[in-house]
Amino acid sequence: MVDEELHFKTVLRRKNDANEELYNLVKTHMIHGPCGFANRSSPCMKDGKCSKYFPKQFQPETIVDQDGFPVYKRRDNGHTVLKNGIQVDNRNVVPYNAKLLTKYQAHINMEWCNQSTSIKYLFKYINKGYDRITADIVPNDDGTSNQPQNIDEIKQYIDCRYVSPSEASWRIFSFP
Ligand SMILES: [Zn+2]
Repeated sequence: MVDEELHFKTVLRRKNDANEELYNLVKTHMIHGPCGFANRSSPCMKDGKCSKYFPKQFQPETIVDQDGFPVYKRRDNGHTVLKNGIQVDNRNVVPYNAKLLTKYQAHINMEWCNQSTSIKYLFKYINKGYDRITADIVPNDDGTSNQPQNIDEIKQYIDCRYVSPSEASWRIFSFP
């Protein structure tokens, strides 16, 4: 009986340690912002609003909305953390996966998705190739001016245009 109790306490303590570790990881890596009124110069701010829609609403249960997006559970339990001197709560937590966050100890936004458009998104990433540039070194006309002469915007556009394999296929098959 005593052994069983001890075992139970050890398991419970391990569970609490794990939760504390996860809590600290979320605090370090998975808090969005602060943005909005508290920090208008945050990079997520577009036209005076957070482009990622933070802070989210408190949510009693995880649901899938009518557009097929998950709305994750966010407890309104009064817990807050300080980020850049600003107090934020569960409404600012970016959705994560506990196993991946614990393993990689980095910002990994993980969300359930179930839309046919995700297929296009996935294949775009696989096929778009790496970033590339074409550079030209040209002398100035008289050797003193810093302004290049005769800028041909059409040629610049064509030279800089990059067609990925997926876009090329799209055009070959004459899709609109
Ligand atoms: Zn934001």
